[in-house]
Amino acid sequence: MKGAPIKAAMLNILTSNAACADAFGGQQNAENLLNKMIICNVPNSPWVFRGPAQDSWDAVAANNSGTPGWENASSTFFFDSNGNGIWNGSQYMTFVGNKFANATLGQQETMLFHEMSHPYMGASGGQDTPDSMYSPYGNGALGGGISLLCGTQSLPPPPN
Ligand SMILES: [Zn+2]
Repeated sequence: MKGAPIKAAMLNILTSNAACADAFGGQQNAENLLNKMIICNVPNSPWVFRGPAQDSWDAVAANNSGTPGWENASSTFFFDSNGNGIWNGSQYMTFVGNKFANATLGQQETMLFHEMSHPYMGASGGQDTPDSMYSPYGNGALGGGISLLCGTQSLPPPPN
């Protein structure tokens, strides 16, 4: 699914699910985060500015090449203010790869809501720990925040 349709689907969720919107600071803030996300396909985009986002691109490219699990199936780079790890509010890049392209819509929504949590919470937000409320995995032993909050589909759990 391309950027505009999936964003429309996510906007529908945010406008109908207050718990999901509240997880991103409420309706207005959540919509702002969604609007500022630039979804970049790896490696199929003809060209996108990578610059300091190269590590995020590389992580998704490695996942495309066989790194197991979904951790780097998507990856976000955002600009902070003076290296403090706090999002500066500008547009940010969310790279997605082959697993995203082949995922269900519900899984794609989970992945992108998870990625939204990176600029929202900043570099020290702990979103990637399994018991985070922003975790894209499971819905029980692994915490499974996004699917529970937003009614989306959780991702397969990470390999042991
Ligand atoms: Zn993450």
